Amino acid sequence: MSDERAKFEALPEDWDRALCIVAHPDDLEFGAAAAVARWTGQGKQVGYCMVTSGEAGIDGMHPDECRTVREAEQVESARVVGVDEVEFLHQPDGIVEYGVPLRRLLAEVIRRHRPEVVITGNFRDSWGGASLNQADHIAVGRAVLDAARDAGNRWIFPEQLTGDLEPWGGVKAVWAAGSPEARHAVDTTDTFDAGVASLEAHRAYIDGLGWENWDPREFLEGMARQTGAALGVAFAAPFEVYSLGWGD
Ligand SMILES: [Zn+2]
Repeated sequence: MSDERAKFEALPEDWDRALCIVAHPDDLEFGAAAAVARWTGQGKQVGYCMVTSGEAGIDGMHPDECRTVREAEQVESARVVGVDEVEFLHQPDGIVEYGVPLRRLLAEVIRRHRPEVVITGNFRDSWGGASLNQADHIAVGRAVLDAARDAGNRWIFPEQLTGDLEPWGGVKAVWAAGSPEARHAVDTTDTFDAGVASLEAHRAYIDGLGWENWDPREFLEGMARQTGAALGVAFAAPFEVYSLGWGD
């Protein structure tokens, strides 16, 4: 990381409701969960929405079994950072397609939750350097950004606007966790342990990766410390801000 990009700005915290929409169980736990723990500790309402159930994520386990295991791990992982609401959209893991059907699905979720901030994962082509991002992350993040705007337009997906559902134009920004283009961060020093526990809740998944001697705490600490240094705190989580009419 070069020096001119080493200074991060703290994310705003003058909001009450956030919705996290990511491709897979575990996506939020690789760094963002400690930030979620901080926010729920402040009394903010945070909901989780998983586009897939990560059922193709464990080589030695059939998707039919894996789906159930991973959904349960995600619900537990959410609970330890103060999130009670976890929704699964049951899109096919590994082959999620960006497009109007996905935007329609996500706009409906956003219209129901009415969040001020929508959080997703990094959807750039890489994690920085040569480390390539994964197809579902890219498809979902792009669709989240679009759906955050679609949700506010009553003429887009109008078939959803029957009964109680109204357009929701209140999303101020989409924040992409772990983006290599992050310029903002959240101090996670006090909630770092909850973030570790949240990742550790994905036990079957971590075991299935078969990474020998891989330690969730050590892994998260490395990332959090580097981001923290750029924010001027011990530990922090990085986010790229896509503003939807909020400041810059
Ligand atoms: Zn993922």
